[in-house]
Amino acid sequence: MNVSLRDLPSVHELLASASLKDIMNQKKVPGILAKEWVQSELENLRQEIVAGEFEAEKLSREFFTEILVNKFHYKAKNYQPYRLRKVINATGTVLHTNLGRARLSERAIQQVVETSTNYSNLEYELESGKRGSRHDIIEGLLVKASGAEAAMVVNNNAAAVYLVLRSLVKGFEAVVSRGELVEIGGSFRISTIMEESDATLREVGTTNKTHPYDYEDAINEQTKMFMKVHTSNFKTVGFTKSVSTKELRQIRDKHEDNDIIIYEDLGSGSLFPFSEHGIGEEPIVRDSLRQGADIISFSGDKLLGGPQAGIIAGKADYIARLKKHPLARVLRVDKMTLAALEATLFDYVYGAEQQQHIPALRDILRSKVEITTQVHSFIEQMEDKLVNISLTGVEDHSQVGGGTMPVEELASYGLLVKKRKTSANECEILLRKASTPIISRMKDGQVFLDFRTISSADEAIIEQVLITLDKKL
Ligand SMILES: *Cc1c(COP(=O)(O)O)cnc(C)c1O
Repeated sequence: MNVSLRDLPSVHELLASASLKDIMNQKKVPGILAKEWVQSELENLRQEIVAGEFEAEKLSREFFTEILVNKFHYKAKNYQPYRLRKVINATGTVLHTNLGRARLSERAIQQVVETSTNYSNLEYELESGKRGSRHDIIEGLLVKASGAEAAMVVNNNAAAVYLVLRSLVKGFEAVVSRGELVEIGGSFRISTIMEESDATLREVGTTNKTHPYDYEDAINEQTKMFMKVHTSNFKTVGFTKSVSTKELRQIRDKHEDNDIIIYEDLGSGSLFPFSEHGIGEEPIVRDSLRQGADIISFSGDKLLGGPQAGIIAGKADYIARLKKHPLARVLRVDKMTLAALEATLFDYVYGAEQQQHIPALRDILRSKVEITTQVHSFIEQMEDKLVNISLTGVEDHSQVGGGTMPVEELASYGLLVKKRKTSANECEILLRKASTPIISRMKDGQVFLDFRTISSADEAIIEQVLITLDKKL
């Protein structure tokens, strides 16, 4: 056994071999990483030898070198430098949480690049030459877009909810309807966040019905807030009743002395009137404030189509208190987020064709006719290029995603992909493991690519992946 271990080539020897050098150059594998690979493969091999996994007559230096070189080549061929990678979202779900939610607009990306490759006036007032506040950067646009007196941004909407409860309700009570005690996913629950923020949750009403008197009866000296939570990811139908912000406002005004804050967690918080385009019943932010909420919060990367962020807007004195709270510093956003958010909001406020510029908005609004045309021209273009793969255009429905408008079905169109002698499951895996992963979904037991979320740049990649896959036996 000792003899065979001595037959193993050295790390240095392997790395110096022409075969390894070639593939390292070709696949741009960094030297340090190549060394790690060789060391770990050598270690594996050593253990296999010690465990007696090789027959005695095979134990030679050439034999081991060949094994190690092959293993290295395999790794190098599939080498991708980064864990976080671009994928093609062929699920049709526009705000796919697992795939990064909203794609940023071209302008947002430009703005991130410009302000992050350089220094910026993130916390510097160019006018006076004095220290500034990063809150000021987008407050003006947020105020214009929402109609609120003041606004601020934190890391995400979960952080926004936490900050609001912790800084305004801590040690007191917030009244929430039992019909709105939601769980959002990723273990974000209203009840848990309430506990964490040291606010006491005062549940009122029932799962399906809550009346104005439920809120009114709950009022005592401890009451600091009426909190409404948008039931983003589910819908109650049938014998239901909830209390509107307007009604909450009336109750609050009747009990003026209690100084109750009305806060609405809007979840997606749209600035665009999707319902006017026949899509969903999502309230727009401006209307929620008009109904009488003192503060609202919503996500930056759901229906807004911007970067991950939590936007809080409302009465100036409350926003000022939130900004001053130590947690605001803990939950503050990076310059890249502010850059992307400012460019996205700018399009809402001043952009003439926001629907075209903001990918999430554009994809949600795309008509079935437009998608069908895209799919048919893709099929035509692929006609002579595939032998073993068949493509069939079929109708289907896509989802908005991101836990918003859960029952909304967007009429869409896409491709059934079938490969000869390959099961649908295998086909799904092959697409997912392609050099640029294509994430498909199953439709009636077949692989389906929904073209709602596929751009023309994506099409070129899908074409290449399909051609490669077609040749694979
Ligand atoms: C999505 C959502 C959140 C969490 O927002 P993130 O930006 O994902 O942190 C909170 N509340 C509601 C109602 C939501 O829909």
